[in-house]
Amino acid sequence: MPRAVLAEGCVIGAAIGAAAIPPAPALVEAWFAAGIYPGIQRALTPVSNALPFALLDLLLVAALVATAIASAGAVRAARRARTAAPLLRLVRHLATGGAALYLAFLLLWGFNYRRLPIEDRLVVEPGGPSAAAVVQLGLTAASELNALHTGAHRAGWRERPWEDPTLRSAFVRVQRALGDVTPATPGRLKRSLLGPYFRWTSVDGMINPFGLEVLVNPDLLPFERPFVAAHEWAHLAGYADEAEASFVGWLACLAADAPARYSAWLALYWQVRAELNDSERARLADALAAGPRDDLEAVAARVRQGEWPWLRDAGWRAYDQYLKANRVEEGVRRYGAVVTLILRARFDPGWQPVRRVRRRG
Ligand SMILES: [Zn+2]
Repeated sequence: MPRAVLAEGCVIGAAIGAAAIPPAPALVEAWFAAGIYPGIQRALTPVSNALPFALLDLLLVAALVATAIASAGAVRAARRARTAAPLLRLVRHLATGGAALYLAFLLLWGFNYRRLPIEDRLVVEPGGPSAAAVVQLGLTAASELNALHTGAHRAGWRERPWEDPTLRSAFVRVQRALGDVTPATPGRLKRSLLGPYFRWTSVDGMINPFGLEVLVNPDLLPFERPFVAAHEWAHLAGYADEAEASFVGWLACLAADAPARYSAWLALYWQVRAELNDSERARLADALAAGPRDDLEAVAARVRQGEWPWLRDAGWRAYDQYLKANRVEEGVRRYGAVVTLILRARFDPGWQPVRRVRRRG
């Protein structure tokens, strides 16, 4: 067998092996999350931060152009030689390319899906919260929004949350409070070629797992940006799980200034609202003052204007499949699970999460 074919077989085999037999969470926690990953993140994110464009755009265009050129060449060669061999070679190359990308995904970020859950480090009561507790959290969000609205609007929102020293240091403090880690570097919020897709599917943002950079919906309103930034930074910090990323992002915003706190309570209000029935939602809406209500309506209008419902549904179904392929059994329902996490985790005053005491020896 030619050496090149053997090498290609090894790459494909390694990818299949990694997908079929994922490493145990405790192992991932030790050698990846607390091992090589923080170094990778602290090297890659600053590089991306220095560039005004998204690395993912570069990657997407390069991959498309390379595939198009290779496909055209293979078709021409097959026609000339009147044999299917060049096409089979193309399929092999594409499969190898896909396998190499998958391995790069795992090594640069994807293994974070296999980490131990945050419940392993924090005191979290088992089971779900009562319906009354969920409503109560929504009412708390409403009263926080009412109290913070004037101050937050007067202070205003930074166009660049990643240059906000208060939010940056809050993000560091929260990471340290949650685990003995090297804190992650915050990423700048970037626009990308995927911007219109985010608009049509009402996605607020995502990270590029190959460049460890943050890509956001171009239509986000100023008061949405701090929480979206902190949520995506939590992904950069290795919290792959959506509920955990929202939990960490929410805590980071609460530890920052009034505009960031307002942004976090606004996001949580949406999240809680999605868990309630019509009469409970009406109760929540009644508790809101005019200011926060206008802001929530502005968010709803932004989503309504941008989204294409059929594409949104297809996009979220695809993301659900992607999460399940990465062994997140609940799929996109993990978003709502942040409400459970907030209600079941134990906090000291000032929303300080209580760590579990490790038994040694
Ligand atoms: Zn997320």
